[in-house]
Amino acid sequence: MKRYLIRCRDQHFSLSIANELETKLKTIGYVLDEKNPELIITIGGDGTLLHAIHTDIDKLDSVSFVGIHTGTLGFFTDYTSDEIDQFVADLAVGGHRESVPLISMHCYNGGLRHELYAINEGRIENIIKTQVMEVYINGEYLEKFRGNGICISAQIGSTAYNRSISGAIIDSQIQALQLTEISGIHHKFYRSLKSPLILHPDTKISLRSDSFDGAMLVYDHLNIDLHKTTRVDFTLGEKEVHFLRLRPVNYFSRLRNLF
Ligand code: NAP
Repeated sequence: MKRYLIRCRDQHFSLSIANELETKLKTIGYVLDEKNPELIITIGGDGTLLHAIHTDIDKLDSVSFVGIHTGTLGFFTDYTSDEIDQFVADLAVGGHRESVPLISMHCYNGGLRHELYAINEGRIENIIKTQVMEVYINGEYLEKFRGNGICISAQIGSTAYNRSISGAIIDSQIQALQLTEISGIHHKFYRSLKSPLILHPDTKISLRSDSFDGAMLVYDHLNIDLHKTTRVDFTLGEKEVHFLRLRPVNYFSRLRNLF
């Protein structure tokens, strides 16, 4: 007997797939368990799986996630909605667990330290005024940045917001932290690195400022106001999310589906 839970995009088609799936899962001995699931199945898009991971962030040690996409294959989702029978057949056979590291963000506010986690990215962004911040890599000063902000993404998030700001796409075989500027100011008085910087997964990136007034820390679909914060440290791998992989899906076929 296996305990599962379905997290579904609130949309008629996704809900109908969830109903169909519930009936089929009974036939292979899976039981619905809202409180103590071993497996969380999402129906929707990559965004639906992202939301589910944050909703169930306190369960990450004990659950695995598997996603069914109602459009094309995604980066988190391994089946499409017209492959439900195949999904159930594969689930009956079983698969393996693949762990993906999350980005940890430690925010320092006076003596207080606040901890947050992201799957795709964490970005400090200020759309009200030019954000000045210093970048430290493993405690070593790198530069003073001026512009809208800086995005720190993980491999899995390299195809998300990072890609829209001309960051590099990182192959799924490589774990890394990527630092990408958001609308940096580059002229004869001020300049910063400009190019995306891809770093070893054990790196600590520290973004510091005398004033983050007006700035937000946006992490996946969530955000906090950075008022009174003076420093945010980003690292990888303090927490992991586990995906249940039932069949191999080539990374480049996922990538092909993106554009
Ligand atoms: P959302 O509607 O859940 O997601 C926005 C879009 O980003 C959706 O099309 C989603 O795919 C796609 N996406 C999410 N993770 C991805 C990944 N790892 N690789 C490729 N595409 C991915 O919006 P939200 O609620 O604001 O969610 C926040 C996430 O969306 C952020 O982590 C951010 O990276 C991403 N996002 C991207 C952009 C951009 O590219 N300009 C803008 C805003 C947000 P599905 O359609 O499969 O759900």
